[in-house]
Amino acid sequence: MRLLFLGMPNVGKGTYATIMKEALGIPHISTGEMLREEVSKGSELGERINKIMLEGGLVPDEIIIELIKKRITQDDCKDGFILDGFPRNEDQAKQLQELTEIRKVLHFKADDEVIIERASGRLMCSDCQAGFHKTGKRPKEEGVCDECGGELMQREDDRPDRFQKRLDVYREKTAPLIDFYDRQGLLVEVVINKGIDEIRDKVVTSIKDYLEGKTDTIEEIR
Ligand code: ADP
Repeated sequence: MRLLFLGMPNVGKGTYATIMKEALGIPHISTGEMLREEVSKGSELGERINKIMLEGGLVPDEIIIELIKKRITQDDCKDGFILDGFPRNEDQAKQLQELTEIRKVLHFKADDEVIIERASGRLMCSDCQAGFHKTGKRPKEEGVCDECGGELMQREDDRPDRFQKRLDVYREKTAPLIDFYDRQGLLVEVVINKGIDEIRDKVVTSIKDYLEGKTDTIEEIR
């Protein structure tokens, strides 16, 4: 069950990946999260990465591939994994093909106004990186992480000026991967236009049914 989650920043793929990881019992591998961990160590490499992330650019492929290679060969990945945020350009996708075979690519989509709404309210725990939302997936106590009690904050690269750059990079470098995987017959569209708390079970069931071959497509979830 080696899966890849694609979609524009803020579409919610990190949230869906967290849910599907529980439902399928396979690890969720987020390169964004791995990079933020490296940054928090304060290493020289971390400093370099931080600068690129703040600008909304792409971290060099060599660094990413090295991280991925190490991660997907770990023991807990032997029954599969969910890749989230990788690959982000065609070179990374080609290098991934050399490393392993992906079974399905889920392309998450939502209407523009839903994406904008999600972008403006996104919060992240400053300790464990768990994701929350001011109106969507709200923490039990305002400003406090449900998982670890850490402080919630807006991600620096979510500020409107920086977010725009990430969108531009997505359109130019990452969006072509949709065709790339479609040509290989691996792609399925997943359209979700509803807050996750209302439709969690529906998301899990439709994705599972599809992966188990019970359905050929994933119906739009509204
Ligand atoms: P989002 O999915 O919301 O855009 P991520 O947490 O996946 O955010 O990524 C944050 C930042 O980390 C990106 O803007 C980019 O700078 C860097 N990054 C993450 N994954 C990759 C990757 N595969 N290749 C290059 N840079 C990456």
